[in-house]
Amino acid sequence: MELLRQRILAEGKCFEGGILKVDSFINHQMDPQLMMAVAGEFMKRFTGAGVNKILTIEASGIAPAIMVGYLMKLPVVFAKKKKPSTMENMLATTVYSFTKRRDYDVCVCRDYLGKDDRVLFIDDFLANGNAARGIMDLVRQAGAELAGMGFIIEKEFQHGREALTEAGVRVESLAIIESLDNCTIKIRQ
Ligand code: 5GP
Repeated sequence: MELLRQRILAEGKCFEGGILKVDSFINHQMDPQLMMAVAGEFMKRFTGAGVNKILTIEASGIAPAIMVGYLMKLPVVFAKKKKPSTMENMLATTVYSFTKRRDYDVCVCRDYLGKDDRVLFIDDFLANGNAARGIMDLVRQAGAELAGMGFIIEKEFQHGREALTEAGVRVESLAIIESLDNCTIKIRQ
């Protein structure tokens, strides 16, 4: 997606350990126009995939996911990163966080994810694929189906896509970062 590519090149910042910061338009300040364009692109790619629910994970997945849900006229569920004391009937799994370097629990209530759901998962980044694999586990536990996964930015050099496609998951990323070596952002054309 050219608009996104240009924005990453203009405003993205590289950090130690292969981290890309896009705080000026995705992860802190957000650009709703760009987010809507991103959502439109996801809708284009997943129309016809038989999706009936959008699933994401808090916090940064929520903004793009709600816009995809708005455009596709589908409900949006976000998996929570802390188990609320008031939530019963929970599905839970453990995910290793690449940016925070620790495990955390991810959970979703069975009321909002079940066997009648065919889910599109939307998130901001695909890196090593830990969050995505956690989501696959929740979808499996719920008896739901996974129609695909859409990421705004994929860091190809961290190989998260491999395990997902090996498991038969359709993966769509709108910008693919080939490398962040020497603090230079290389994006696939
Ligand atoms: P994974 O689980 O695929 O290793 O990492 C995905 C999650 O970690 C995303 O949901 C995202 O929040 C965060 N993440 C991974 N790499 C980056 C990065 O380079 N920049 C930012 N801002 N977040 C990242």
